[in-house]
Amino acid sequence: MIIAIDGPAGSGKTTTAQEVARRLGFLHLDSGALYRAFALAACERGWVGPAGDVPRERIVELAALDVDGEVVQGAIMAVLEGRRLAEEIRTPEVTACASIVSAHPEIREQVNAVLRRLAAQNPTGIVCEGRDMGTAVFPEAELKVYMDAQPEERARRRLLQRGEDVSRESVSRESARLVARDRQDSRRAASPLRKAEDATVVDTTRLSFEEQVAQIVEAARRRPGSA
Ligand code: C5P
Repeated sequence: MIIAIDGPAGSGKTTTAQEVARRLGFLHLDSGALYRAFALAACERGWVGPAGDVPRERIVELAALDVDGEVVQGAIMAVLEGRRLAEEIRTPEVTACASIVSAHPEIREQVNAVLRRLAAQNPTGIVCEGRDMGTAVFPEAELKVYMDAQPEERARRRLLQRGEDVSRESVSRESARLVARDRQDSRRAASPLRKAEDATVVDTTRLSFEEQVAQIVEAARRRPGSA
């Protein structure tokens, strides 16, 4: 069984997908981590221009790098040229660059190949999350969820998650960053962020974490032939 969770930045996809996967005994696939691995490579090699852009010829070089996913404790860990990646893919520079590199079809093809291979190796079930899981990578997914929340609420959660100060100013700054990233992700030509027609919308603005997880787990259990 494949559960595809898509939605904008900071909608709670990663933590929710992790917990849904744990409860169902499925593998958690965080597709963003793979885009972030390519972004980290570009940042480390000094390939990011002053306007945050990555030149076209560098994209071709990037796409040829060995980015893979390794299953560690029920989730995938991004691996760049044999190096397991952790918190270094979560910096603001890498986050901004991930939206730039992910707009290129060459990079998307690499990420999608890794995701599909990992899914094929895990027949029990996967919970994958990103921007195009239900629309492009796993259109056959048995359950599609589009998670959304108001930008201010997403910003507040992001700040809390990072242990940063939550003030009116910091929420409005972070919210502007999230909205800018959503705009980039929704306007690109290659697999833009959008809700799959057959996806169920879960607006998490007023839902607790437990409620979000429970809604998805229950929907998964209602599917014929599910766990
Ligand atoms: O989900 P996360 O914030 O880690 O994703 C980082 C970036 O990777 C996103 O802003 C988006 O540009 C890109 N991404 C994507 N398609 C996915 C997952 C992530 O384009 N399926």
